[in-house]
Amino acid sequence: MASSSPGDGNERQYRRRREQLVETLRSRGIHDERVLSAIGAVPRHAFVDPALRDRAYADEALPIGLNQTISQPFTVAYQTSLMGVQPDDRILEVGTGSGYQAAVLCELDARVFSIERHEDLLARARRLLDDLGYDVRTRHGDGARGWPAFAPYDGVVVTAAAPEAPDPLLRQLREPSGGKAPDGGILVIPLGGSGGQTMTRITRTGTGPHDYEREEFHSFRFVPLVSEEDDE
Ligand code: SAH
Repeated sequence: MASSSPGDGNERQYRRRREQLVETLRSRGIHDERVLSAIGAVPRHAFVDPALRDRAYADEALPIGLNQTISQPFTVAYQTSLMGVQPDDRILEVGTGSGYQAAVLCELDARVFSIERHEDLLARARRLLDDLGYDVRTRHGDGARGWPAFAPYDGVVVTAAAPEAPDPLLRQLREPSGGKAPDGGILVIPLGGSGGQTMTRITRTGTGPHDYEREEFHSFRFVPLVSEEDDE
């Protein structure tokens, strides 16, 4: 999808490093081939500060300003795999940050919606996604409230740590429709305090307020989800 990237003459080298990154992710346990090829397609170097481009294809988180980070590629691949994204799925991302995760979701042919609370970060991500030809709807605001106008979602991915799954995000998951999609929408969110979080997948299993199934996976460490009340 991304036919061009802000070129600095090293495109061939970046492509080679990206292929190596995909192999690294495979060896670390990512087996979803669609996710791996999406990672293999997104020019991550364009999403990091030019001074850090050398490290863009190492499997590490990097600073993107305002005390925020672009997630480690392993984490992006892991969260994306847990959602089982299908073409045309409506996916809401909370925490646009650099825009990298949103671009990966676009490569999976999802319809992508993304919310960011830092206006400056959002403006930068917005420009970059446009330049690269990624079609993402973005919004400035508190992602813990979700984005009701475009709900329900097949998947919601939160890229910041929360103590508990925000209710609006649970309510905005698609209800199970029976037939080919027996389960409803899926929320993937790192739950826990600042010391570390457990990646958690919550699947909507019915229409009632308690019809959600929860599964826990590996530990991670994310920047915190900051809600409007925290700012006051
Ligand atoms: N997905 C990003 C990584 C983002 S880091 C990427 O691929 O680069 C987490 C982001 O969540 C930060 O940019 C932070 O500003 C944002 N964030 C934190 N709390 C938020 C909230 N309540 N609503 C929206 N964004 C939030």
